[in-house]
Amino acid sequence: MVQLITNVPQYENDIAEEIRLFWGAVEIRAEAEQPEAVMTVTLDERQGVASGTLGSAAACFDVLPDGGDPLERKRQQKRAVKRVAYALLQQACPSDMPWGSLTGIRPTKLLRDLAGRYGDAEAVRQFTEVFSVSPEKLRLAATINAVQRPILESAGPRDLDVYVGIPYCRTRCLYCSFGAEIAKGASVEAYLIPLFDDISRGGRIVREGGWRHRATYLGGGTPTVLSADQLDRLLSHLETVYGGFGAECTVEAGRPDTITEEKLTVLKAHGVGRISINPQTMNDETLRRIGRAHTAREIVETFALARKIGFRSINMDLIAGLPGEDEDDFARTLSAIEALRPDNLTVHTLAIKRSSRLKEQIDRYPLPSRESVTRMIDMGFDCARRIGLWPYYMYRQKYQNGNLENVGYAGRDTICMYNIDMMEETTSILAHGANAMTKRIFDAERRVERIAAPKDVPTYAAKLEKLDGQKRGLFLL
Ligand code: SF4
Repeated sequence: MVQLITNVPQYENDIAEEIRLFWGAVEIRAEAEQPEAVMTVTLDERQGVASGTLGSAAACFDVLPDGGDPLERKRQQKRAVKRVAYALLQQACPSDMPWGSLTGIRPTKLLRDLAGRYGDAEAVRQFTEVFSVSPEKLRLAATINAVQRPILESAGPRDLDVYVGIPYCRTRCLYCSFGAEIAKGASVEAYLIPLFDDISRGGRIVREGGWRHRATYLGGGTPTVLSADQLDRLLSHLETVYGGFGAECTVEAGRPDTITEEKLTVLKAHGVGRISINPQTMNDETLRRIGRAHTAREIVETFALARKIGFRSINMDLIAGLPGEDEDDFARTLSAIEALRPDNLTVHTLAIKRSSRLKEQIDRYPLPSRESVTRMIDMGFDCARRIGLWPYYMYRQKYQNGNLENVGYAGRDTICMYNIDMMEETTSILAHGANAMTKRIFDAERRVERIAAPKDVPTYAAKLEKLDGQKRGLFLL
C-alpha cells in the first residue's frame, strides 16, 4: 500500500496513474497505518511550483505558463504534479517508461496540440524533457501525425462519422471488459428494433443540422453475429436514412466463426469497402485459452473467402503479450499473418482490464515479461514493414503490459479514416446502439462532449427518446 499525501486531491487519480506505471495495481490511500511507501506531492500555486518526496527521493518543477487561460492553467498544474510523481518514482525504482509520464490514451493528439500551440521544436522538447517520452516513441507519434495530416485536413467543421454498435459476441474473450452479451437469435433480432429507430432519429439530426456524413463504421461486439438477412436490412436502413455510407464503410467482422460466404456477399453488395478479420493469435492453444471459438485454420479460410469475394481492404488485429505466449509464439503468429498479407494490421498490447475475467483470475495465467512484450511490439512493426504497411494511428489503454501502445498499420490506399477521426477526436461521431459513445467535437475550444448510450439493451431501448434529445442538444446547436 502507498500513502499519498497531497494538497491537490483533485489530481489524486492522475498521480495514482503515475504510481501504477511503476508498481502496477497497488492500493493507494490518503491515510494508511503501515504503508510500504509514502509519497508527498505539493502544488504551490502562488509560486507556480510543484514538488514532492518519496523516501529519500525529491523532485521539484515549475508549472509551465498558461497564457491566462484557466483551462490551460489546470492542464499545466496537472502535468506538473504528474511530472513530479514520475520523477520521484524514477529515482526510487530506476526504470524508464517508453511513454514517460504520459498516461493518456492519445499521445499523438497531445503532440499535435503542442505543436499547434508552441511550434514543432517546443512540442518535441516538451515530449522529451517534460514528459520523458523515449526517442523511439516520439518518432512513432511524429510519424503517425505526418501520415494523418492530410486526412485530418480533409475534414470540415460540419462533418461527422456514423458509428453503429452491435453489442453481441458468440463467446466472451478472457481479456474483454466491454460487456458484450452472448448472441442469441431472438435477442439480436429484438435489438434491431430500437437500433433502427435510433438510426432514423440520427438521420433527422444530420439533415436538420446540415451535417456532412463522412464515414461509417460498424463495430461491436461482433457485427457479424447478425444473420445475412439482418445485415442486409441494417445496411439498407443505413443507406436509406443517410443516403449512403459517406466516403468509406468498415464492418468489423471480427471473429471468423461468425463470418459466412453469404454475409460477406451481403457486405460486398452494399459496397462495404473494409472489413476486419481478427485472429488475435494464430496459435490454437492460445485461442482456446482466451475463449475464442475458432481455430487459426478458420482464420486462413475466412481470409481466403473474403479475398475471393473481392475485399481489397482487410484488417487483422493481433495482441502481443497474451497469457501463456512467448516471443516464439508471437513470431509464429506474425509469419502466418505475413503469408496472408492483410491490407491493415493492428497490433495491440494486452491490457489487463478491471472488469475482465483475466483480471479476476490473473494468478491462473502466466504473462510474458515487460521486456518480452516490448520485443513483440517491435516484431509487429517489422512484420508490418515487410508487408508494406506503415503506422497510421495509435492509442494507449490503461494497464497495458510494459505501458506500451496499440498501433494500426496500413498501406497508402488502405488507411481507415474513421479510426483516425475517432482516436484523434477531430471529427464528431454520431453513434447508434447500446454502449455506443457519441462525441461532439468543438475544435475551436479544444472541447469534446460525450453521450454514452446505456450498456444493457433493455435500458438502451427504454432511454432512446432521452438519448435522442441529448444528441439533438449537441448536434443542433
Ligand atoms: S470480440 Fe471483443 S467485444 Fe467480443 S468478447 Fe472478445 S474482446 Fe469482447
